[in-house]
Amino acid sequence: MDCIFCKIVTGEIPSYKIYEDENVLAFLDITPVNPGHTLVIPKKHYKNIIDTPDELLQGMALAVKKIAPAIIKAVKADAWNLGANNGAVAGQIVMHTHWHIMPRFTNDGHHLWYGKPYADGEIAEVAQRITDNIKIR
Ligand code: 5GP
Ligand code: ZN
Repeated sequence: MDCIFCKIVTGEIPSYKIYEDENVLAFLDITPVNPGHTLVIPKKHYKNIIDTPDELLQGMALAVKKIAPAIIKAVKADAWNLGANNGAVAGQIVMHTHWHIMPRFTNDGHHLWYGKPYADGEIAEVAQRITDNIKIR
C-alpha cells in the first residue's frame, strides 16, 4: 500500500514517535501548526473516521486523552485543538485516518473557520434531514 502513514507505522519512513500501543501510534507532524503538533493514527490502514472500526476510534480517543496533557506540558501550550480533515475538499491530504492534536498559544496568529448564518427556516430543515439519515445501531 502506497501510504505515507502506513510506511511510518512500519518504520520505512522515519518519524518522531511519541506514543504507541497495540493499535494506535502518535508521532510529530512534519509541518506543525505549532511545535508539538501530533498526529494520532490507527496502525491499520483505514481512509477516514467513518471507515474506522469503533474499537479503534475508542483507542484513538483514549490515546488523545493520554497524550494531549503531555504535549501541553512539554511545550507549555495555553490550549489545544483536536482536528480531523475528512475528504480532500475538507483538507485531507493523507488518506489514512488521523487526528491532529495542535498546541495553541495566546496570539499565535492562527484562526478558526468563520461561521455564516442560516437562511430563514433552513436550520430546522437541515436538522430534520440529518436526523432522518442517522441510523441508530
Ligand atoms: P491532513 O491534511 O491529511 O489532515 O494532514 C496530513 C498531515 O500529515 C499534514 O499536517 C502533514 O504535515 C503531515 N505529513 C505529511 N507527510 C508527513 C511525513 O512524511 N511525516 C510526518 N511526520 N508528517 C507528515
Ligand atoms: Zn495507511
